[in-house]
Amino acid sequence: MSFPTTLDGLYINGQWSAGSEHLRVINPATEALLTTVNGGDERAVDQAVSAATEAFKGWSTTTGAERGAILRKIAAGVQAGREQLMHLQSSNNGKPLFEAAIDVDDVIATFEYYAGLAEALDGKQDSAVELPTDDFSARLRREPCGVVGLIVPWNFPMVTTAWKLAPALAAGCCVVLKPSEVTPLPELELAAIIAGAGLPKGVFNLVCGTGLAVGAPLSADPRIAKISFTGSNAVGVQVMQRAAETVKGVSLELGGKSSLLVLADADLELAVEVACGGGFFNAGQMCSATSRVLVADELADEFLSKLKARAEAIRVADPFDPNVEMGALVNQAQYQRVLGHIDRGLSAGAKLICGGNRPADLPRGYFLQPTIFSDVPLDSALWCEEIFGPVICVRSFASEAEAIALANDSQFGLVASVVTRDTEAADRVANALQAGLVWINAPQVIFPQTAWGGYKQSSIGRELGPWGLQAFQEIKHVIRAL
Ligand code: NAD
Repeated sequence: MSFPTTLDGLYINGQWSAGSEHLRVINPATEALLTTVNGGDERAVDQAVSAATEAFKGWSTTTGAERGAILRKIAAGVQAGREQLMHLQSSNNGKPLFEAAIDVDDVIATFEYYAGLAEALDGKQDSAVELPTDDFSARLRREPCGVVGLIVPWNFPMVTTAWKLAPALAAGCCVVLKPSEVTPLPELELAAIIAGAGLPKGVFNLVCGTGLAVGAPLSADPRIAKISFTGSNAVGVQVMQRAAETVKGVSLELGGKSSLLVLADADLELAVEVACGGGFFNAGQMCSATSRVLVADELADEFLSKLKARAEAIRVADPFDPNVEMGALVNQAQYQRVLGHIDRGLSAGAKLICGGNRPADLPRGYFLQPTIFSDVPLDSALWCEEIFGPVICVRSFASEAEAIALANDSQFGLVASVVTRDTEAADRVANALQAGLVWINAPQVIFPQTAWGGYKQSSIGRELGPWGLQAFQEIKHVIRAL
């Protein structure tokens, strides 16, 4: 795929333009420069928020059916551009093309789903509220909360965006979107699709740029009603602090340290597949990575040897290689961060079962072997902190209660997985885990109908499902004396 030398990084009030901040966009599989995106700064944020504020006057009064029709056009545009968007995901993020296809299909499904919820809103608007008296009547309205700022990370470009953008538009909000400065290309193409979908100017605005130049002023702008942020906990705290000054709402989707529990009666082949999917999909750069694998004592040796064999057989390769199973990490900084975790794990006394290095046949690009540790000290960073790379820590347990306690012993609580043939045990464990989503004998499938988000320091609020829409709505009751 070839790119122009530079790309405009601003789409404000229906116009494309170039900002003054030059963002170098790299292909992580080759380390080559793909293009430079001319992103914005505080001034661009100001212009985008002004445009969105003006557009809100009209957009907030449209019907759900009108908004749904535009969301369906966006979904159709993404479908039509599917191949190109897949290539952009893989070129910019380093993920295999088959993973990029899953991403793009998720985007389509999300826009379609929220189109349906937008259309359904009209029938519910002004619904009567039952009161204990005939002296008054009351009706319920759900109104868009205002102009919203959407700030997203680099690991699932477009997907994280769709999870915020589709419900925000469905609710009737106007939007200023800030993609990750590391992976702006998929969002730039998505913006081009949106630009052709018939939205009134100013409803959707895109400002590419760094966190400090764009994300920080966006979080602080008093005209913004809400910030929906996905990213690291450190930045999430900063966003929340800035938002607090003007008491704006925040939705935060942050880090995770999730567990897979393999119970004593588990199908081992299935457990190995679930472990590899949870640990190595997207090169482990997932907030939902099940980087802790807890396995029943009686299965531990056999499981570990099967997992090692499977991990060593995973084909790490260029994202466009037809046989690729795992691609590259996103950039040099992330690569070094993950290698640092591996080094610190070794220093803390963890036992390296396999991986830990660059694959010998890939001298360039941010490639890492699938890596497995056992005997990881419970107080080590490897066990406690989010790694965000293809690293799994395996530990055995003696009882179901111990497994649940180990899984819940974390500042995070995003997701979890359980593998067992015992239906009752699966439900018992799923109910006891402090996580927003638990998969039983399943890969990490995600549906727009089920919520995304977690307990403790993983999240504030939920995305997807009706909760994703409610995050962009205000509740209004109108009470009338009769
Ligand atoms: P990050 O926090 O560094 O950046 C996220 C976004 O915030 C980027 O767009 C960045 O430019 C912006 N940003 C940076 N500094 C900012 C500031 N001071 N004010 C406002 N915005 C700022 O995260 P990342 O490295 O891009 O992504 C990895 C992190 O994202 C991981 O910690 C991961 O767990 C988390 N994540 C969470 C979920 C979830 O759903 N819970 C999903 C994906 C990623």
